[in-house]
Amino acid sequence: MDISKLAASIVESPTVKLNAEAVKLRAQGEAIVHLGIGEPKNRAPQKAIASAIEKLNSGEVKYAPTDGLPSLKKAIVQYTEKNYGRTIDPANVIVSDGAKHSLFNLLYALINPGDQVVILAPYWVSYPEMVRMMNGVPVIITPANGGFYPAISEIEKAIAPSTRAIIVNSPNNPSGAIFPDELVEKIVDLCEKKNIYLFMDDIYHKLIFDGRKIAPVYDFTKKDIESTNVIVINGLSKTYGMTGFRIGWIVGNRRLVKVITNIQSQSTTCNSPICQVAAEAALTGDQSCVDELVATIQANRDTVIKELRSIPGVKVAKPEGTFYCLPDFSAINKDSSALAEFLLKKALVVTVPGKEFGAEGHLRLSYAGAANEITEGLKRIKWAVDPNAPREIQIGNRKIARDW
Ligand code: PMP
Repeated sequence: MDISKLAASIVESPTVKLNAEAVKLRAQGEAIVHLGIGEPKNRAPQKAIASAIEKLNSGEVKYAPTDGLPSLKKAIVQYTEKNYGRTIDPANVIVSDGAKHSLFNLLYALINPGDQVVILAPYWVSYPEMVRMMNGVPVIITPANGGFYPAISEIEKAIAPSTRAIIVNSPNNPSGAIFPDELVEKIVDLCEKKNIYLFMDDIYHKLIFDGRKIAPVYDFTKKDIESTNVIVINGLSKTYGMTGFRIGWIVGNRRLVKVITNIQSQSTTCNSPICQVAAEAALTGDQSCVDELVATIQANRDTVIKELRSIPGVKVAKPEGTFYCLPDFSAINKDSSALAEFLLKKALVVTVPGKEFGAEGHLRLSYAGAANEITEGLKRIKWAVDPNAPREIQIGNRKIARDW
């Protein structure tokens, strides 16, 4: 395709524009509060950092096996056994450059032009984009009841002869909702009956609140790892706050792992061994850092929900996991991009328009940051959208009066 046409076809998302504007405003000294962030603020586990340093100091930083270091793959096998109750073989695991890369590889391996991939709204922004890049067709299901997951009948209705896969992400970005176990069970059943892949994006599966437990997806299939249609995607980014290490993985059948190994062999060659040893250390080390992260974001969640519920017209479901919530602002402004722009301009708060996730009328707010930033951000949003709020607010070293 002509490069100019291709470049012109890329639509810059409102989020990219908002983030660029926020960077500009911050550089001008404005007191920006960022509630758009998609990563926890905690440090990587000390053991992971020490392992990476040790590897680097050895000076032996060379190509690694394409499918991942054997010791990391072993750690992932153990992780799968512990967290999913499934015994698998290292040949069922392939390590990639973050869960995003894992998903991209999966789609590259399995989606032919014209294949349909069922995506459940609200969805992570990258799913439909990646499917389109493969010349596949994203089929979006929006729950008729306005909730955060569909009824199984809605999924069944969307299945066509060309449906190749369904993507499920629970706990969910952007809503923070957890799909009920019974629904996941029915989706697994449907996929196995119709011979459709289930891509289970488990990147947030450890970030769940209120002591809730979720059944691992493999509980719902009697098939072994070589014949099940379930493919699990996971990674370190969210659980250990290691977004910059770029380590994710897929658990699937050996043939799939072989195909994706070939894709990586001709594209990325391998993952950095520095990041891989760090990943191994995080997975095998003391897991109290995960509990601490969950406790922090759960407390943040409580603050966000309490504040949002005090804003007239805003409706919000309490997130059960992740570090996002997706309040409904449609009574205030149905156009989420316009509202996000307004909040940035008037209240210096960055939010993400729900439209990006297939949830127009909503805003995605992240509570991954510091508690005081979250409180400040919510205070400003309330001031900006609640006509009963005091007319003036102190933002940074300026007093601002509402003129709308
Ligand atoms: N899946 C979902 C739902 C996500 O939100 C993200 C990160 N925002 C990823 C996958 C990718 O994570 P990473 O590539 O950092 O492992």
